[in-house]
Amino acid sequence: MKPKPAKQPLTLLVLRDAQHSVKQVHLSKPLLIAVPAAAILSITGLILSMQIQSSRDISELERQLTLQHLKSLRMEITVSDKEAAIERLNQAIIQLSEEAAQTDAHMKSVRQLEEQLRTFIQEQGFDPSESSEDISSSQTGDPSSMGGEYIAVYEQDMLHLAEETLDDFERIRNLMETMEKAIPRTLDHAAQAQHQRESTPSRWPTESRRLTSSFGYRSDPINGRSAFHAGIDIAGSRGDPVYAAASGTVSAVEFSSARGRYVIIDHPDGLQTWYLHLDRASVEAGDQIKQGDIIGALGNTGRSTGAHLHFEVVKNNRPVNPLHFVD
Ligand SMILES: [Zn+2]
Repeated sequence: MKPKPAKQPLTLLVLRDAQHSVKQVHLSKPLLIAVPAAAILSITGLILSMQIQSSRDISELERQLTLQHLKSLRMEITVSDKEAAIERLNQAIIQLSEEAAQTDAHMKSVRQLEEQLRTFIQEQGFDPSESSEDISSSQTGDPSSMGGEYIAVYEQDMLHLAEETLDDFERIRNLMETMEKAIPRTLDHAAQAQHQRESTPSRWPTESRRLTSSFGYRSDPINGRSAFHAGIDIAGSRGDPVYAAASGTVSAVEFSSARGRYVIIDHPDGLQTWYLHLDRASVEAGDQIKQGDIIGALGNTGRSTGAHLHFEVVKNNRPVNPLHFVD
């Protein structure tokens, strides 16, 4: 501790809400007496109501010297003893230090969320440079550096440190609270949108894009009679991969003389996709599959005149034109 000056000045500490934090005014004893109370109050820019002098009240105030309590705190303390003032400041610094540790933990969780969001955005193929770059770095200085040599630091330094740190913490806390609320919501909305997109038949089910028969009425390729074609035929080579047009649940993997080996996948909103004439199926009924998963191999089984995939989209048990769905 530095040596006490012969004549100790008086230190007026003013604690306001967290935005304004700690303010300090040094006053010599005669000056303090000379300055009317109204003038002191005008320095703080606040009409302050309470003067606390009992040590019980001061220790209660110290207990409240966390950001949460500071928000509602509008008080004035007059301290006549410099040692006591320094001690109180030390306490404030220690509390800020604890606050810093909490803020640090808080920030880690925000970073994790941010990382999650960034990964998600990258997975979606968006430009990650748009995302908020290192928001947490706006904090000034390393909070862990606060606990160190505070005893040797002069009062003003500590006051400034406390003041700045409080302001920083308040800003960071507000920012983090906003982010903590917003990021999970954004992730949730994005995930829902993605799920909706992937659950709608939109992916072309084969490598080949050679359409040999379209949806609707046509002449039957085997007996020549007019018939309704409930899907589209895509020519390909036997063994070519067949992809799920959308995420969903496999509801049937079966074989019939007309359809050959076939797979049906159920999707939300009463939608189904049907894959006929497969050479083989690589999924089983009940499997949960993602859009783009391989569900089997293109083939020529059943009532078919050559290797092709008959692809059907069924909505509420009625076949609809698949070209209205897939790209
Ligand atoms: Zn067909």
